[in-house]
Amino acid sequence: MDFELSAEIRALRDSVRQFLDEAVVPHIERMEAAKEFPLDAIRQLGRLGFMGMTTPKEYSGQAFGNVALAVVLEEINRVWASLGVTVSVHNSLACSPLAKFGSEELKRKYLPKLASGEWLGAYALTEPEAGSDAANQSTLATRDGNEYVLDGAKIWITNGSYADLFTVFARTDKSHKTRGISAFMVERTTPGFTVGKEEPKLGIHSSSTVEIQLEGCRVPVANRLGEEGKGFHMAMDTLNGGRVGIASQALGIASACLEASIERARERQAFGKPISEYQAIQWMVADMATDLDAGRMLTYRAAQIRDNGGSGAQEAAMAKLFASRLANRAASSAVQIWGSAGALAGSPVERYFRDARITELYEGTTEIQRLVIARHLLRS
Ligand SMILES: Cc1cc2nc3c(=O)[nH]c(=O)nc-3n(C[C@H](O)[C@H](O)[C@H](O)COP(=O)(O)OP(=O)(O)OC[C@H]3O[C@@H](n4cnc5c(N)ncnc54)[C@H](O)[C@@H]3O)c2cc1C
Repeated sequence: MDFELSAEIRALRDSVRQFLDEAVVPHIERMEAAKEFPLDAIRQLGRLGFMGMTTPKEYSGQAFGNVALAVVLEEINRVWASLGVTVSVHNSLACSPLAKFGSEELKRKYLPKLASGEWLGAYALTEPEAGSDAANQSTLATRDGNEYVLDGAKIWITNGSYADLFTVFARTDKSHKTRGISAFMVERTTPGFTVGKEEPKLGIHSSSTVEIQLEGCRVPVANRLGEEGKGFHMAMDTLNGGRVGIASQALGIASACLEASIERARERQAFGKPISEYQAIQWMVADMATDLDAGRMLTYRAAQIRDNGGSGAQEAAMAKLFASRLANRAASSAVQIWGSAGALAGSPVERYFRDARITELYEGTTEIQRLVIARHLLRS
């Protein structure tokens, strides 16, 4: 067992950190306050190869794998969770399922544009009555000759205002719940496809989250991802990868909380000495660091299982469950260590606290991760 990251992954981590420090960090505070989407950063990340991290090389990707993606996502989220979720959704929920399940024609048509960052991808599963119960899809895809006609609504779609290509899940057979769902690659410019207004959110203010309306939206049969009726299986497999991405996001936020806590604890004086000299503060910092290392191990393990061709369903759920909760503990401790300055709007730890909360909600809530893990443990 090797607990060291490879030299290639460490070099990737250093290069993304350098890019972020130089081109992104100086703008975060202003853009987050203005809820401005980081489109420039995405285009630049695309040119550097970070928008096609797991995409095969023959489709202009980097083929670095999921462990490398986890490490890079932790770095991005360490500075800016709004950018982190955008990159995570694009790589793990848009590029990965297309590379895994798409026809040769679809892969050649779309992957090079996505992997270069020229196009942004999105994943549209959630509906008003299909959140945790994702199989309860009511968006319909009705076959009409060489096309499917899509009708319905999707909500909470990350990257929605800026995405060029959406993986949309819809019901092709009303008589089966999970086996009646199929997946479609839908271009934003398709007639009948409408993007709604931005949702105002608790955190990740610079990320894009929208509702989508599909009204008589005609999609060629060639744009169906995989076989008819296999959409739910693909949606769940894709989320296993996505959960590793959100676990990495949580690690990045927790890592930022730890750094901010150490810096503040060394500087801030109370009763004549730095607060870092009080055991109450030391224990919070020690717990944060220990949690973070444990979370990394769970996350890298899940990523490696996926790199080795496994589904990693249970391990990805464990990684996301543990990492999202540790990020919330770390953010709460960081605010505590900062004292009232941590409650100030615009302070870094205030942003981490708000951003951390959402990691327990998307790509399966904390309760759903436990349900997935328990199902694996208890099935006979
Ligand atoms: C910022 C943001 C971005 C998002 N991006 C996307 C995206 O890009 N694409 C997309 O498709 N979706 C996206 N989502 C949607 C997200 O994945 C869902 O909101 C999430 O799965 C939870 O669904 P829900 O909100 O309907 O909660 P509900 O399903 O209504 O759940 C409410 C509560 O009940 C609990 N609960 C539900 N069922 C059970 C059960 N069986 N056992 C125990 N507890 C249960 C839940 O854990 C939760 O606490 C995003 C959400 C947010 C907030």
